[in-house]
Amino acid sequence: MTDCGCTGSHETRRVAVTGGPGAGKTAFLELARQSFCRHVVVVQEAAGVVFGGGFPRDGSLIARQAGQRAIYYVQRELESVGDSHEPAILLCDRGTVDGAAYWPGSPEEYWASVGTTLQQELSRYDAVIHLRTPTAAQGYNRLNPLRVESAEDAMAIDERILAVWSSHPHHYVVDPSPAFLDKVSRAIQLLRQEVPHCCGGEAPDPDADDGWP
Ligand SMILES: [Zn+2]
Ligand SMILES: [Zn+2]
Repeated sequence: MTDCGCTGSHETRRVAVTGGPGAGKTAFLELARQSFCRHVVVVQEAAGVVFGGGFPRDGSLIARQAGQRAIYYVQRELESVGDSHEPAILLCDRGTVDGAAYWPGSPEEYWASVGTTLQQELSRYDAVIHLRTPTAAQGYNRLNPLRVESAEDAMAIDERILAVWSSHPHHYVVDPSPAFLDKVSRAIQLLRQEVPHCCGGEAPDPDADDGWP
């Protein structure tokens, strides 16, 4: 973590980081923690909290639907806790929109099941950075113990995630790169454009004089 020396107040901008399994989100979030100041707060992945905490994963339709609803509610509450620290950037490891890609059924069914709409959930986030899942040839691996998907399934999930977020006005897509570090640093550069100048980023200061009286 860097020291920005910033004492200003910030209007929180929410940035969701997403992508299929094996896309490098974890490495990216770790680098983001090191590259930015304490005003960039990372929200942990809700699915990790839910499934890592032992939520049943027996593969049945009931369990899959219940799991996605649990993730949705945990995600919202993790974001509320993050907001309470008044960060400049709330960097979310996935967003509520991702659930539509994992839901066993149509996205419309998912939104109805948690009493919301696509538009409402997209508007929770100011920007979304999508790290594409590499193919097996590009280096997809299953080192993460919570990862249960094959390379083909992972690609299919990645496509669905891409589709559900596609109408977001600030949807940044980062393609796999032969050098993994290139991909991660491209994503960091995108994030830097969202971080206010006062905290070492390239976005305008929240209290900057914009020329209006
Ligand atoms: Zn700062
Ligand atoms: Zn600042």
